[in-house]
Amino acid sequence: MKYISTRGGMEPAPYSAILLEGLATDGGLVVPETVPQVTPEQIESWRGLSYPELATEVLALLATDIPREELAAMCRRAYSAENFAAAEVVPLTAIDDRVTLVGLSEGPTLAFKDMAMQFLGQSLEYVLARSDRTLNIVGATSGDTGSAAEYALRGKEGIAVFMMSPQGRMSDFQRAQMYSLTDDNIHNIAVEGVFDDCQNLMKALSEDMEFKRAHHLGAVNSVNLGRVSAQMVYYFWAWLRATDAVPAAERAGYEVSFTVPSGNFGNILSGYTAKSMGLPIRRLVLAANENNVLDEFFRTGVYAPRGAVDTHATSSPSMDISKASNLERFVFEVLGRDPERLSAAWRELAETGRIDLSAEQSRFEAEFGFQSGTSTHADRVETIRAVHAESGIVLDPHTADGVKVAREHLEPGVPMLVLETAKPAKFPDIVFEATGLRIGMPEHLADLLDLPQHVTEMGNDEAALREFVATRAV
Ligand SMILES: *Cc1c(COP(=O)(O)O)cnc(C)c1O
Repeated sequence: MKYISTRGGMEPAPYSAILLEGLATDGGLVVPETVPQVTPEQIESWRGLSYPELATEVLALLATDIPREELAAMCRRAYSAENFAAAEVVPLTAIDDRVTLVGLSEGPTLAFKDMAMQFLGQSLEYVLARSDRTLNIVGATSGDTGSAAEYALRGKEGIAVFMMSPQGRMSDFQRAQMYSLTDDNIHNIAVEGVFDDCQNLMKALSEDMEFKRAHHLGAVNSVNLGRVSAQMVYYFWAWLRATDAVPAAERAGYEVSFTVPSGNFGNILSGYTAKSMGLPIRRLVLAANENNVLDEFFRTGVYAPRGAVDTHATSSPSMDISKASNLERFVFEVLGRDPERLSAAWRELAETGRIDLSAEQSRFEAEFGFQSGTSTHADRVETIRAVHAESGIVLDPHTADGVKVAREHLEPGVPMLVLETAKPAKFPDIVFEATGLRIGMPEHLADLLDLPQHVTEMGNDEAALREFVATRAV
């Protein structure tokens, strides 16, 4: 099983050769040369497996160059009881008789990024040890991704993390979560500026090929193959749990739909890949917030990313993204997996600021199963209020965007599964606004805010950052 680039300019390479790189060598994204197929009998044979066992089965189809016992050990360590609060790792909870939440935020940072990042941490450590290499992750975060990366990579052999965050712009909880880590290989840097400044500093370093090579820089961003493949596992898990109560004779091909709160198009893309492997998924409904570039794309076929100034700061902040870095993988499929047409589309984007696929738009739903919708601040407040009043369940604002859009796309006889992407405890203000409840931290994190914090403050200063990284890189 080999991987190729969407732009056609990379020699086919095995899974573990790609893990350390974000992009393909020609600037495209890596995709499987042919998508492995699973049969209904095969999926059924996985019904009794635990989450780490199921992860081993699914990932073994993608990471064919990693020995199975190694993969099984990585999955056991990634999805351990120590890392995940729920015994089943991913619990399903019905909020009414039609909509069920898929709990992806039981991990150490209370958001779904842990699901992929914990596996990536294990697999990076394995690949580095085998190739006798080291890796220095330089990243920029406004909250969720940085903390998930730090919790997945803390204490790992041969890896160091340099994570920049904007000074004074994260919540108390996010700061405490990252800055309380005491591992020697974790370096938190609070930059004087906003998130974009952190990102520009990161780009300056990673685009300097000489510096990048000299200090073995790498990234764990949302296009990383390890992340998108680990995210496929919970679609299989959710389908299996949703069909546990279906009579055995009716399970083969039993269709369910998913709604996915989306930003960079990583999570829902993993669902699409699971569907193309043969998992019976009827609809993949994309939920956007006010930054609804992707909803616009699925409704019109025109992709017109927006710049930072046109990106609103909303109350579902992890979806405040106006340039969806994983969309290229979907466009590649729409264009018949033709690297020439794909490259032409990206040239059009560079020249005109948009890609016009309106001629293909009718296939997005008919052939690929995609639908979409938008949710606003008022919608998420109302959804959090209503779901709490009906069921006692408290949603986080991103999941609320999902439930709002899911309820607009229900079909008779088709279960709707909404991916819960974060815990409400991370967003107490909107929960209070919607319900009047003041929710506290989960018990196992209650004293986090009192721990001593470790962070280096730095000006918006590239030279200082270079010096900092160069002297501490592994
Ligand atoms: C990252 C994130 C999202 C968006 O996921 P994508 O894979 O970027 O589409 C949604 N909700 C939460 C809470 C997140 O952290």
